[in-house]
Amino acid sequence: MLNGDADVIVVGGGISGLAAAWALQRRGVRVVLLEAAVRAGGTIGSTREQGCLIESGPNSMLETTPLIGELVGELGIAGERIAAQPAARSRYILRDGKLIALPLSPLAFFVTSLFSAGAKLRLLREPFIGRGARAAEESVADFVRRRLGTEFLDYAINPFVAGVYAGDPETLSVQAAFPRLHELEQKHGSLIRGQLLGARERARNPDKSKQVAAMLSFRDGMQTLTDAIARRLTRIEFNAEAVRIVPGEHGYGVTVSGAAGGRNYRARAVLVATPAQAAARFTAPFAPHAAAALAAIPYPPLAVVVSAYRRDTIAHPLDGFGFLVPQRERRLVLGAIFSSTLFEHRAPENLVLLTSFIGGMRQPELAQREEGEIAGFAQAELAALLGAPVHADFIRVTRWPHAIPQYTLGHLDRIARIEEAERNFPGLFFCANYRGGIAVGDCLKSADRAARQVAAFLGSGDGAA
Ligand SMILES: Cc1cc2nc3c(=O)[nH]c(=O)nc-3n(C[C@H](O)[C@H](O)[C@H](O)COP(=O)(O)OP(=O)(O)OC[C@H]3O[C@@H](n4cnc5c(N)ncnc54)[C@H](O)[C@@H]3O)c2cc1C
Repeated sequence: MLNGDADVIVVGGGISGLAAAWALQRRGVRVVLLEAAVRAGGTIGSTREQGCLIESGPNSMLETTPLIGELVGELGIAGERIAAQPAARSRYILRDGKLIALPLSPLAFFVTSLFSAGAKLRLLREPFIGRGARAAEESVADFVRRRLGTEFLDYAINPFVAGVYAGDPETLSVQAAFPRLHELEQKHGSLIRGQLLGARERARNPDKSKQVAAMLSFRDGMQTLTDAIARRLTRIEFNAEAVRIVPGEHGYGVTVSGAAGGRNYRARAVLVATPAQAAARFTAPFAPHAAAALAAIPYPPLAVVVSAYRRDTIAHPLDGFGFLVPQRERRLVLGAIFSSTLFEHRAPENLVLLTSFIGGMRQPELAQREEGEIAGFAQAELAALLGAPVHADFIRVTRWPHAIPQYTLGHLDRIARIEEAERNFPGLFFCANYRGGIAVGDCLKSADRAARQVAAFLGSGDGAA
């Protein structure tokens, strides 16, 4: 069965595939989006139970690009958009078993007990430390140790990397995972000098850095965004797991498995917007180097535990975004978000909602335990660190067996092999969170770039049917 030709087949309906499909449809391109699951959104998933909003993936996004505002406007969901509450500006880091507020101003930095006097002095030496070699790839940990010192690595960067990537700074590549930091060093010779000197340049750039971007979500959670795109797409098929892509003379054939038997689709272009392992399976028969590169991108498992407690039963004031746990502290959680402080209406009036993260590159084995055991880890840690009761009033666990792609050493070479496949197979494109950044805003930027490339390819007549 041939399911009607399209100009482009988008495989995968997470935010990357959805946003690219929408951008193409708006340009008049005939798109069919194939999604393996029963709903769109991929990692983004929001449900409400007993008045509690469960975000099983991202809790928020940073408005790092004007594309977010434009998209929200086009989709007619601006009225649903909500901003993070001012109290969520503060963040806590665990040190010696105590939660210490992260200093947010230079003065606070000098008085904080989070870093020793030696670590503070070490930081002041940063502008006098020479550049690393431009060509040599360096781990985030080596880069930070070299420029900022070991204590800053242990009590600032290690927990931050766990919070963003569920990652390990010893294995991530600074060039691939934090390209701006690497650029700052290369351009200004120092992160501190670059931060001060680059202010005017940053003000002119419509894209905002993650430090200054506004944080947002939607009244009913992040899935509002992906649902809104899915509703607007003319052709989106669920339960449609693509199992094969075959390049042909006039474009690509895509085979989908399903209860009703296999279906075939044909189009001049294919945009692969699945996680890297699936993309590796599709490309192995005809682009083995790209497939090997995709298969080599690690995705550690991660568990998300959403729990609710009566406000008056928790000792901590929960006056911030949440807390992060450095590896040195040897705990069972990577950190937790104070979800009901971050946004309004996350839980009934008398309850507070917390979202804890367990596993990642640091402790992958913990995220693979039974749900009940994982719930136990989270409750025990919240009791120890926040003074919460031993049992939550409400608790839900989501396990992601392959959560977040890690931009480890060698990642840029892997991306180069994917680019090579795109050059060798005109009309084949890749766009997902293993490329261009893992944050939702990064995915939107990558999707916009991919949609332009697909549209240019279709407009050029290259590979026309
Ligand atoms: C627990 C967690 C918390 C996070 N928190 C934040 C946060 O607070 N802020 C933030 O900005 N980012 C956060 N992120 C990262 C961000 O959510 C993701 O990077 C982003 O949503 C990924 O989108 P994607 O479309 O690239 O991939 P995915 O969401 O993985 O989507 C891929 C889609 O492809 C589909 N698919 C797979 N195989 C096939 C196939 N063979 N055929 C058809 N379809 C297929 C899948 O079903 C899925 O829908 C978080 C991630 C996780 C896991």
